[in-house]
Amino acid sequence: MSAQILDGKLLAAQLKARLAEEIKHLRNSVHEIPRVFSIVVGNDPASLSYATSQQKTAESLGIHYELQQFKVDSSQDDVLKLIDELNSYDHVHGIIVNKPLPAQMNFSTIINTITPYKDIEGMNLTNFGILLMGEDGIFPCTPSAALELLKSSGVSLKGKHAIVIGRSEIVGKPVSLLLLKEDMTVTICHSKTIDLPFVVHDADVVIAALGKPGFVKGEWIKTGAIVIDIGINQVDGKLVGDVDFASAVDKASYITPVPGGVGPVTAVMLMNNALKAFKIQHQLK
Ligand code: NAP
Repeated sequence: MSAQILDGKLLAAQLKARLAEEIKHLRNSVHEIPRVFSIVVGNDPASLSYATSQQKTAESLGIHYELQQFKVDSSQDDVLKLIDELNSYDHVHGIIVNKPLPAQMNFSTIINTITPYKDIEGMNLTNFGILLMGEDGIFPCTPSAALELLKSSGVSLKGKHAIVIGRSEIVGKPVSLLLLKEDMTVTICHSKTIDLPFVVHDADVVIAALGKPGFVKGEWIKTGAIVIDIGINQVDGKLVGDVDFASAVDKASYITPVPGGVGPVTAVMLMNNALKAFKIQHQLK
């Protein structure tokens, strides 16, 4: 058996086309478009390159994107003051705070200053609480991308057993809650889990988010399970996932590649959140 590939680039292109169409419709109907404001502190090349790629994606969809770059020695109060202003502007629908932040700043304090319905990274505590309550809201992008890819398989998820490997606040926990919201039976594993291969073997869906290259082996996986690999690791200058793709592809029914799986969809989910934020603020369905 060789798994079907859940192609993140293809799904991202389809989602982008849908978003662009919806934004065009908004432009014609409510004469407004979503506007996002992104904050970078310092000159970190990865952060700047991420912001450039956000801008490209946003503008290709018809979303207005503005970037404010603070000097690396700026104070946290400078950033909080800007966020307070952005919170008060009706024409700003989404706010992004790019990481890393310099040592004098606390990401949690900053992200929790954003009005929850403008927090398009879905990282503040109110949005986490909404997810915990199983309600609809603005949720973190990588977990949402993993769920979109899983759904793109077309396989019914209700009642099936999902194993999530990883319990971080940005990936493992939110993706587990998203799967629970889909009526899946969810087991969360972490570094203290006893006999991980045994636990994984019971899963209909395996979500790997542990940050260890090729850690999850094909022989752990139940024949026909769906494998979503969230991991991104650099090995000898190449990107690899947390799943040993070569052995897993022979056991799974569907599998995401790395690169080209969750990553490209994550970028689109940020813009999907911008559209959600716009609709919440304009009280649109
Ligand atoms: P993290 O904060 O380091 O968390 C890793 C989690 O994995 C922890 O909960 C840890 O358990 C668990 N873990 C570590 N070793 C384990 C083991 N041997 N067995 C079972 N569990 C183990 O990482 P993260 O930020 O969640 O990121 C996870 C992966 O996703 C990374 O590869 C990251 O690069 C990738 N990622 C991808 C995207 C994307 O867009 N595709 C976005 C964000 C992150 P403990 O809690 O017990 O320590």
